[in-house]
Amino acid sequence: MVAANRAAVAEAAQRARHLVETLDLTPPVDVAQLISERANVEYVDWSHSCDAVTSLSHEPPRVFVRQGATPLRERFTLAHELGHIELAWHVGTVDCVTDSAREDDEVVFPQKAAWAQEQEANEFASRLLVPDRWVSPLVSGRTHFTHEEMRDILAHLAEANVSALAGVIALRRHLLPGHAFFVGDRFAVSDGTPWPGYPPLTIKDISDYLAGAYEVGEFEHQGRTVKWALMLPMVDVPQPVDGDSHDTRKAHEVLTDCCSDVFGDDAPARVYSINGIVGAVTRNASLGWQEGSIITAVHARINERIDLRAILDHPEFMLYLRKRANGIVERRGKKGSART
Ligand SMILES: [Zn+2]
Repeated sequence: MVAANRAAVAEAAQRARHLVETLDLTPPVDVAQLISERANVEYVDWSHSCDAVTSLSHEPPRVFVRQGATPLRERFTLAHELGHIELAWHVGTVDCVTDSAREDDEVVFPQKAAWAQEQEANEFASRLLVPDRWVSPLVSGRTHFTHEEMRDILAHLAEANVSALAGVIALRRHLLPGHAFFVGDRFAVSDGTPWPGYPPLTIKDISDYLAGAYEVGEFEHQGRTVKWALMLPMVDVPQPVDGDSHDTRKAHEVLTDCCSDVFGDDAPARVYSINGIVGAVTRNASLGWQEGSIITAVHARINERIDLRAILDHPEFMLYLRKRANGIVERRGKKGSART
């Protein structure tokens, strides 16, 4: 995501959640009904590549939808147009142009000038059709899944009646790091997962990427083949080490000691960087972080950093990670129980 409209994308997500809550929506969301209550919708037979055009300057707004799209794509388009209507800062006439080379169900990332508004409307559509509250409980706090469990999760997603790719894009938001999904030449990965490259991917790109996977599964989902890969060795609970409990230093003190040994005078800057990585990796508390998943994700992120990776060989660095991860889980557990 580009930083320029990150706040607007977050606001679009919030508007969708609000609508889901207010109307108590459960998949499959009747998006045709929702939009017909807010706009005049017309189906038009046109040859150009727009999926829809919405005129927001009319009251009520007018929405023209291309006739002949597949049902799943049309549902997403309607939800996307509803996004333009619900997001008050979207004005004028919006042409929702997608990749004209593709006539399948898949959501295509906008590449034209209005990409920011298009991205915000896509975010709204995704969170409306596949509500957070409906997906998150299935996977929150789970580091890994069996093949059968993932099949059940995808079967649940299918009830939302969105394309295979739109479904896994919604799912990946709620998954801890390490999960990658491939649909054709497109993909969706959870935050903190190694990046497969820019779509469209070739078969070789995908097979090279999957060669590094700890586990790969293949599923038939919404008429497509979905490949699922676990790219990090996720575990729930780290191996306890004798002596952890006898060490009375705080996590930060252990990190400072490790960095002094490895980096000498550069230690303060490296401590700062590592703290930043831990904060960034675990920022989304709703993912339900476990100690093991924090350790694995932070370890993987540090390993990508040439300036930091030497710290991984320090004999006490794992002690720091265990203490730090334990602190985060305990602190969030207390906050969680304080709310209830
Ligand atoms: Zn649009």
